[in-house]
Amino acid sequence: MTGEVIVLDRVSKRYAGDVVALDDVSLRIGYGELVAIVGPSGSGKSTMLHLIGTLDRPSSGSVLVDGYDAAKLTDRELSALRASRIGFVFQQFHLAPGVPIVDNVADGLLYSGVPLRRRRERAQAALVRVGLGHRLGHRPHELSGGERQRVAVARAVVGEPAVLLADEPTGNLDSASGAGVLELLRELHRAGTTVVVITHDREIAAGLPRQVRMRDGAVRHDSARTPGGVG
Ligand code: ADP
Repeated sequence: MTGEVIVLDRVSKRYAGDVVALDDVSLRIGYGELVAIVGPSGSGKSTMLHLIGTLDRPSSGSVLVDGYDAAKLTDRELSALRASRIGFVFQQFHLAPGVPIVDNVADGLLYSGVPLRRRRERAQAALVRVGLGHRLGHRPHELSGGERQRVAVARAVVGEPAVLLADEPTGNLDSASGAGVLELLRELHRAGTTVVVITHDREIAAGLPRQVRMRDGAVRHDSARTPGGVG
């Protein structure tokens, strides 16, 4: 597919107390890209992720995801868009404890209308894809941090979303496991998945094909616009 999966047009987000978390940000992300959104704490990365992920609405400006204008959708339609078109991975994994990983991943298809048996088959295939095909019946506490994050990635991609949003996906991992998870994201990208990684870590960002650098709620540098520059 060609075109843009994410379009932010002059987006601002203000919180109570006159905090401007995002200030007139425009950003386009194409289908099939692997992009790092990088910046120090407080620069607006999480706010951006919430808006791209339609978890929150902008104060002004527009957000398009997979061709849908978020402002034109009801909360219910937004939930449906999120469930079908966006995969989320968080620093804290957010797996259901005590539940076999195959079911954790199958739950990623809960709102898709896919019958249970087919959900399990697809979950199994997704776990094979992330290198955990031999652990289907294991529960999260029986796995290492790196393996848990692989499960979370499998759950995020099992429904073949238009975009995978990863918020500090290596933040809770040692460097070797973190590198493994990043390699997994690169593999998914090579296979065609659009991936957006939020990180405060410039080294991680530097290893990805495109870097969008944030500071004080604004995009200070986008390597897609001025390759090689320092923001
Ligand atoms: P980052 O993810 O880069 O650390 P955030 O998007 O979390 O940055 O925060 C950007 C700015 O918005 C910060 O000044 C932060 O304190 C403020 N902020 C974030 N969320 C809220 C909120 N719910 N209410 C008020 N201010 C907020």
